[in-house]
Amino acid sequence: MPNTTFARRLKSAMDDAGVKQADLIRLASERGKKLGKSQVSQYVSGKVVPRGAACALLADLLGVSADWLLGKAAAPRPAPAASHDRTTAKKTPTQGSTTMREFKKSSKLENVLYDVRGPVVDEAARMEEDGARILKLNIGNPAPFGFRAPDEVVYDMRQQLTDCEGYSDSRGLFAARKAIMQYAQLRNIPGVDMKHIYTGNGVSELIQLSMHALIENGDEVLIPSPDYPLWTACVTLAGGTPVHYICDELNEWNPDLADMEKKITSNTKALVIINPNNPTGAVYSREILEGIVEIARRHQLMIFADEIYDRLIMDGFEHISIASLAPDLPCVTFSGLSKSHMVCGYRVGWMILSGNLACMKDFILGVNMLSNMRLCSNVPAQSIVQTALGGYQSVNEYIRPGGRVYEQRNYVYEALNAIDGITTVKPKAAFYIFPKMDVKKFNITNDEQFALDLLHQKKILITRGGGFNWGEPDHFRIVYLPRMEVLRESLEDLADFFAHYRQS
Ligand code: PLP
Repeated sequence: MPNTTFARRLKSAMDDAGVKQADLIRLASERGKKLGKSQVSQYVSGKVVPRGAACALLADLLGVSADWLLGKAAAPRPAPAASHDRTTAKKTPTQGSTTMREFKKSSKLENVLYDVRGPVVDEAARMEEDGARILKLNIGNPAPFGFRAPDEVVYDMRQQLTDCEGYSDSRGLFAARKAIMQYAQLRNIPGVDMKHIYTGNGVSELIQLSMHALIENGDEVLIPSPDYPLWTACVTLAGGTPVHYICDELNEWNPDLADMEKKITSNTKALVIINPNNPTGAVYSREILEGIVEIARRHQLMIFADEIYDRLIMDGFEHISIASLAPDLPCVTFSGLSKSHMVCGYRVGWMILSGNLACMKDFILGVNMLSNMRLCSNVPAQSIVQTALGGYQSVNEYIRPGGRVYEQRNYVYEALNAIDGITTVKPKAAFYIFPKMDVKKFNITNDEQFALDLLHQKKILITRGGGFNWGEPDHFRIVYLPRMEVLRESLEDLADFFAHYRQS
């Protein structure tokens, strides 16, 4: 359904400024920004509501506020803009009588993409503000879907809270790191020492920290496509160049080793694997992992392994830590409690440096420095690591036959494959599925447009494949954490959507 508020306001601002659609395109281009003809026409018709940078650009060109354009209740009505010639003379926001220069976001963020919480999500939030009920299949956050932290973990954090008021050692509490070390031993990661274990505010913080510690401007890092986009974003932010190797859907989404090797240059410093994988749910076999280790060995690359889903494996598949196969190489292994213990909000993750520590000596100094600079990770969260990693693992109840994650995975997999024009590989782990759309059948050329159309027509929120640095507009990710009733309703609506959808 067209968004009339936005379209009405856009047209009135254009009229006030004496600007036509073609003028908007020209004015944008004069500022070095790209606005396409069909993009502008979709905004003017209210078919698409731009978010983020695109909305800010329109507002800027028209001399109005983005919030007002979006119809946000609290946004003040702007003073009528004068002719568009004046829009080229930069207006500055004023507060009282003080005229302030404009504060723009850093240009370092220019090529950073994080669509898991991007423009389509903003549009869903706006629709919710207008009273719409959105079916959210977009974010891997178990708590809102009724997955609870194990009682023992919550109890233990409560008991220890008063002991966690101070900073800890910057790497983390002794007991937490000891438990992580023992966990690493059970995963056959060789020669792990307490001093090479770092706790973090989630794996997220440690990805960013380790990329900043390693990367020089221009260094290349091999990252899977599709990826968990934080990796690409952090490499970019650290001044590096992410180079994506293909994971092959026709081969159970395993990394294409030939493609990986082909993309190595003299600037390549490291390779990243995400195993088990988000967004595909793949789990790599020993053979594939040995192949990756061999490539890293041949080209002297560091290995970064994001294994946050290592305790969410289904169907009896085995998870092998790549570090266990590479005792002679520099390895960094990441995991945490967000997913296995359904405590994303507590923010507790860790990284383990192993293998060839001698060649990482200077990198370790960098990691220590950055780790010291952030003082320490959340101490109450660290206090539950020992409890969480020891003893009974309640997550196993979810992933065995009859368990919620297992049954929901089976249902979504079958329901998706039953839709004409959709095919998908069965995930082996985690709680994501990455289906393929027949782009010819649906005439899809733009996956963000597809995500917006699905949102507007069926009020279903998914994440487009491009959000995972996937190069074609032919995939999207579903998170199958919502309860079965919600999944059934969503999949029925999705089937109905694809029965009629043709992208215009
Ligand atoms: N790595 C992957 C592959 C993920 O999917 C996620 C979250 O979805 C993270 C890291 C971030 O985890 P954390 O909550 O520990 O920051």
